[in-house]
Amino acid sequence: MKVPDKLVSAILEARSFLIVIHINPDGDALGSALALSRVLKNMGREVTLLNNDPIPQVYRFLPGWENFIRTPPQTTPDVLILLDCGEIERTGFENLPGKLKLVVDHHLTKQNFGDIRWGLSDASSTGEMVYNLIRVLGAPMDKDTALCIYTAIVTDTGGFRYASTSPSSFRAAAELLEAGVNPWHVTENVYESISSERMALMGKALSAMKRNGEVAVISVTDSMYKETGTSAEDTENFANLARSIKGVEVAVFLRQIGSGSFKVSMRSKGRVNVAAIAEAMGGGGHHNAAGGIMKGRFDEVEKRVTTMVEDALGSHKP
Ligand code: AMP
Ligand code: MN
Ligand code: MN
Repeated sequence: MKVPDKLVSAILEARSFLIVIHINPDGDALGSALALSRVLKNMGREVTLLNNDPIPQVYRFLPGWENFIRTPPQTTPDVLILLDCGEIERTGFENLPGKLKLVVDHHLTKQNFGDIRWGLSDASSTGEMVYNLIRVLGAPMDKDTALCIYTAIVTDTGGFRYASTSPSSFRAAAELLEAGVNPWHVTENVYESISSERMALMGKALSAMKRNGEVAVISVTDSMYKETGTSAEDTENFANLARSIKGVEVAVFLRQIGSGSFKVSMRSKGRVNVAAIAEAMGGGGHHNAAGGIMKGRFDEVEKRVTTMVEDALGSHKP
């Protein structure tokens, strides 16, 4: 993986940084930002970490998670870095300060935000890109930095299972283990710490799941959160659960956000590019995992998104 020289020199020349990640932050966004921030601080730089949402409970084992602030600073840093997203809208802020604006991302976005963009849509994760960046910066890989990057790569590759997992992802992982990461520590925190409430929500959502040929739709409404005492962060990976059914080619997960609005998550086994469907609703993502927001009543949204997916699969019968 070649890190652009321009990006490296821009980082080496700067003294102060603002690192920003996308809304509803995931393991890749958080792990990448925390790792890069640690390294830059060790190099004597000033770093501010910014994110619009609370940090999900599940990632609060990552060292430094409590350093994120939630309001943009008043001062202008030398460099703004958007990580794991390619445009301002995905950060949930309207505009962000920075004398120079950099993007490090692996989504299929076509936007052209930023003075220097490093976008690798076939990289497994932003974590893997940050790993390579840290190597080129010549910074040492301490155990906590390694833990953050390993978590980023593990979560975005679904535990090294997705097609984006490459030999270089495993090479990075091997070196991160050599730096002291205990893989079970990450597994236990990320995958084996499901609360009973979340498990109950999963049960409800799975019982109500609808299967229509190659499409499965799983959904969570406000009343399900109330009945189980859960919230949006307890729904991570529900879309993947639905996709894991044999014969399902595309899974859709609908999560109510307030009244009359739904977060749409789509997962494809590969035949269909769900990022294209997501873009048609103003969202984005990757070939196999993408998302967006749709407004309307639940049954309308469900019908509209199912039709879009069936059209893409070539199975829609008007
Ligand atoms: P999710 O379904 O939220 O787990 O997201 C799957 C992928 O789609 C991730 O890579 C997200 O970054 C991307 N994604 C989700 N929602 C949006 C959105 N509204 N706009 C752009 N990309 C999105
Ligand atoms: Mn992400
Ligand atoms: Mn990512």
